[in-house]
Amino acid sequence: MGFELAAAFRRCGSAMLGLIVGASLLATDAASADGTPAKELFGAKALPAAMAPSSYGFYAKGCLAGGVAIPTDGPTWQAMRLSRNRRWGHPEMIALIERFSQDAAEKIGWPGLLLGDISQPRGGPMTSGHASHQIGLDADIWLTPMPQRTLSYDERESISATSMLQKNKFLTVDPSIWTPAHAQLIMMAASYPQVERVFVNPAIKKKLCDTWKGNRSALGKVRPIYGHDYHFHIRMKCPEGSVGCKGQARVPAGDGCDKSLAWWFTDAPWAKPKKKPGEKPPKPKFAKLADLPKACAMVLGGPAPTSEQEATYGTAYRAATAVPAAATSIEAVIGAAAAAPLENIPVPLPRPALQ
Ligand SMILES: [Zn+2]
Repeated sequence: MGFELAAAFRRCGSAMLGLIVGASLLATDAASADGTPAKELFGAKALPAAMAPSSYGFYAKGCLAGGVAIPTDGPTWQAMRLSRNRRWGHPEMIALIERFSQDAAEKIGWPGLLLGDISQPRGGPMTSGHASHQIGLDADIWLTPMPQRTLSYDERESISATSMLQKNKFLTVDPSIWTPAHAQLIMMAASYPQVERVFVNPAIKKKLCDTWKGNRSALGKVRPIYGHDYHFHIRMKCPEGSVGCKGQARVPAGDGCDKSLAWWFTDAPWAKPKKKPGEKPPKPKFAKLADLPKACAMVLGGPAPTSEQEATYGTAYRAATAVPAAATSIEAVIGAAAAAPLENIPVPLPRPALQ
């Protein structure tokens, strides 16, 4: 969707939306009736719904209208795993990633971001990998900095990020891999007002709690969770105007270096679930289209742009998207001792298995 079309949607979005709802409800009746898992319906869409941008539903149960792709390459990023076709997001999310990648390069000398999954073209549940990332407001960023050359398509499929954890130790950041720049990168991501949460491994959160000397006001947004030792995950607030977007409660006040973090260092999160003798494991239940917000039928059946290029973020979108505010005084957040050049950029390794 080009700029003119985007502007037209803003002008008469609701009228057009009405037309599209009517047409697409008919179009998707068959799909919704046969009970196909929603992940298959959304996973089959190669292009977004060319409609006014809007996130519908919740991060783990919803879909995305008017998705745009981040270009595979930018001056300060490269997208990975291109075959997955998960470079799509709400335009404000794509604008944020672009801004963040520039800020990181300028202010902390991070050579560029390697981008993991954002969302499918129309969001929705995925056939593999994530519970969330469904509404174009979640993005995975590798903790491995971008190499100074353009990676080939095959390399982007096959190389692996580097874990920040020490092998054979319980939840411990590897001091030979972790650098102050990693800490700055994560804290910078958290400091944007439109970022609501940044998910990292509990060991990384603990490392930040123990060592972060800068402003700690954004540290509470950095949340500990399983995994997330090869990448971190940025979650944006519902953008203004996304009426159908269900936000998440704000993070509790404070830096989060408290009981909620200590819990991860107990046995509780890692214990096997108790099973009664003879009890069968529950069958996985896949969301159907009818389980998602109603608007997702319209998104699924909505018109596609004429090409991927038309829906790829660029000058026209940049002009039409609210430019994200810079992180509130980035220097105050990351500290004055910024821009220490990264000396030992870890060499990407062959990838062991699908994440
Ligand atoms: Zn993620």
